[in-house]
Amino acid sequence: MGPTLFDLAGKVALVTGGSKGIGLGMAEALGKSGATVAIASRGKEDLIKAERELKEKGITVKGFQVDVTNKQKVEQLIEDVVTEFSHIDILINNAGTNIRKPLVEVKEEDWDFVMGTNLKGIFLTGQAVAKQLIKQGEGGKIINISSIFGATGMSNQTSYSASKGGINQLTKVWADELAPHGIQVNAIGPGYIKTPMTADWLSDQERLKSIVDKTMIGRIGTLEDLAGPVVFLSSASSSYVTGQILYVDGGWTAK
Ligand code: NAD
Repeated sequence: MGPTLFDLAGKVALVTGGSKGIGLGMAEALGKSGATVAIASRGKEDLIKAERELKEKGITVKGFQVDVTNKQKVEQLIEDVVTEFSHIDILINNAGTNIRKPLVEVKEEDWDFVMGTNLKGIFLTGQAVAKQLIKQGEGGKIINISSIFGATGMSNQTSYSASKGGINQLTKVWADELAPHGIQVNAIGPGYIKTPMTADWLSDQERLKSIVDKTMIGRIGTLEDLAGPVVFLSSASSSYVTGQILYVDGGWTAK
């Protein structure tokens, strides 16, 4: 027992959507626990900024540009990360997006965009990393980033909730399929966390109050609230945990 229980030294973690928000926070948490980190996202400028920020914190990191909705680019990403760091041990399958609209206003292209990024992107990245982990033959960890809306309903979340419910199901299927390879697959379902994705939405004080009121703990979450859970699920401490959705939501889904 002791700090080695959560030690990630020698491990390589790939974090999609690692250039900002939750992905960047998780990349920092994994790096501070000793992992080498590959961050992958769409925007080059954010990626360069995030890489510099993490390096300043003493983390070994490299940024990779990718569009997770493109199978060929995702496969190239895995090849590039392996060329750079020789292996991958942990995937934080996090890249995601949202378009909030009432059902009757959701356009077909809104649905395709959200489902494409959140569900197809998670599938393509999970599949490519699973192939690499199986080839390496030393197990691994896949952590899909879901949401409270994978479990609960709320207005304006048609495509988003459908995508996150899908992620929860993928998590269970992959956990069963990949267990014989020593790979654990779990998901984290965060409640509201202030990031570039939610900043505008949460700036309405009335809405913020109604969101806070849905939690037991009485506040929205922070990136620090997600650090322990992601390190736990990435480390040897969670060896007997698979197929689970860990809600880090101040009690929202239990209320
Ligand atoms: P964000 O908008 O701040 O960051 C999203 C990241 O994903 C960025 O790095 C972006 O470049 C990347 N990305 C988006 N589309 C991509 C694509 N096609 N290819 C590659 N990268 C792409 O969002 P966030 O709030 O940090 O959310 C991250 C994840 O956490 C998402 O899956 C989101 O659904 C989930 N989540 C967020 C909250 C919250 O309150 N912020 C709550 C629950 C779940």
